[in-house]
Amino acid sequence: MAREALSDLAGRITAGERAALAKGITLVESRRAADRGAAAALIQEVLPHTGRAIRLGITGVPGVGKSTTIDALGVQLIEAGHKVAVLAIDPSSTRTGGAILGDKTRMANLAARREAFIRPSPSAGSLGGVAARTREAMLLVEAAGFSVVIVETVGVGQSELAVADMVDTFLALMLPGAGDELQGIKKGLLERADIIAVNKADGNAFHAARQAAAELLSAVKILAAEAPPEILTVSARTGERLDALWQAILRHRDALDGSGKLATRRREQNVVWMRDMITDGLQAFLAEHAGTVLGDVTEAVRRGDVAPSAGAQDILARLPR
Ligand code: GDP
Repeated sequence: MAREALSDLAGRITAGERAALAKGITLVESRRAADRGAAAALIQEVLPHTGRAIRLGITGVPGVGKSTTIDALGVQLIEAGHKVAVLAIDPSSTRTGGAILGDKTRMANLAARREAFIRPSPSAGSLGGVAARTREAMLLVEAAGFSVVIVETVGVGQSELAVADMVDTFLALMLPGAGDELQGIKKGLLERADIIAVNKADGNAFHAARQAAAELLSAVKILAAEAPPEILTVSARTGERLDALWQAILRHRDALDGSGKLATRRREQNVVWMRDMITDGLQAFLAEHAGTVLGDVTEAVRRGDVAPSAGAQDILARLPR
């Protein structure tokens, strides 16, 4: 894209034009080498308008109530004057054909509001690459004036940690089922979560949810010594205690900001981001310039004819120097 067209696009994004924002995100999601340069230039251009949003990550197993929570919380925030963007990280969505995160039909009330912008996960690529492109999308929605950015991911695999690496506050949603449920919680998640909310604290599940929250509280006291997550119960369906959840999010962010840790966290995240972009760029380069050889060597390694280390050497030797 020509320099002038890029400046024009950047201007229209910062003016809050939705079509321009969508176009910008499509550009940053592209893996074509030619688009990467334009995407980087676009990000550079809008950079002064970024960084002011509240960046919230939400994870949890399928069915825990992520979309119900985002839908209800998002509408509540809009009523309070916010503009809310929802992005998603789900490298598996195209492969499994499962629920596509950030799907507008899963957040019907929010999707109907013009103060909301909902975008499903970029698909192709490694987790690092998907995460890197979501970060760029996050900057674009911030530049477009969205004051809250929610990044959604499924709480399986490594994608939840990728989300933790790009937000100010990382929220884990849990199901009320105590005991067995708690056994399954990964230690890593307890260490990374800033807030844990046990959802579906309503009807018959109300007491189980309270019980689960109490058990979680004792678990984090043992596991996460430094800055243990705040734990609470909510009902996304009835909306009960969603305001308490939002207050907890603001408390966490204010504490980070007040202690100077928000800036440090974001700078560290930028370093992770750059590394992700380097890895993704290398993979894209190899796919473009050595795709056939990469396929052949991969097959040879799979057959056992070539050792993994020799295969890697062979491929890396093809990088220009
Ligand atoms: P996601 O897969 O994590 O996005 O979960 P959904 O938001 O799609 O919710 C899965 C199911 O749980 C749906 O049938 C929701 O209606 C239901 N659900 C979500 N939140 C609540 C809640 O707070 N209470 C109850 N009882 N059901 C809920």
